[in-house]
Amino acid sequence: MSTPPRRGTRIAHIGIAVRALDDVLPFYRDVLGLPETPLDDADGARIAGLAAGDSLVELLQPAAADSPIATFVDRKGPGIHHVCFCVDDLEGTLAKAKAAGITLIDDTPRIGAEGKRIAFLHPKSTGGVLIELTEY
Ligand code: ZN
Repeated sequence: MSTPPRRGTRIAHIGIAVRALDDVLPFYRDVLGLPETPLDDADGARIAGLAAGDSLVELLQPAAADSPIATFVDRKGPGIHHVCFCVDDLEGTLAKAKAAGITLIDDTPRIGAEGKRIAFLHPKSTGGVLIELTEY
């Protein structure tokens, strides 16, 4: 098994909470011209993916009333829910975050959408933005 090349941290996707995909999908797809890309639903959300260069915009519509996205939309309204960074070394980055006093939501990576390993960092220690980490 070969080691994947180190590419440096980049934005993998931006998760945007919406009340209904149809409300905003036409803007991203038809006005901005971002191609739609199929994604699995995850974490109680219906997800529409749109390719923006090497990054994705993920529109997250609540699929269940008690899902994290439903709670977010109820409390704050639609808007940016999280930013996901792709890192070369997920465990190493989590260890660095912990050592820096960042509050981890996931102490160890878990399996998220598309079978990728992910971990979340708490917004209270990242300038108010929920941060998701994933790897290549
Ligand atoms: Zn995400």
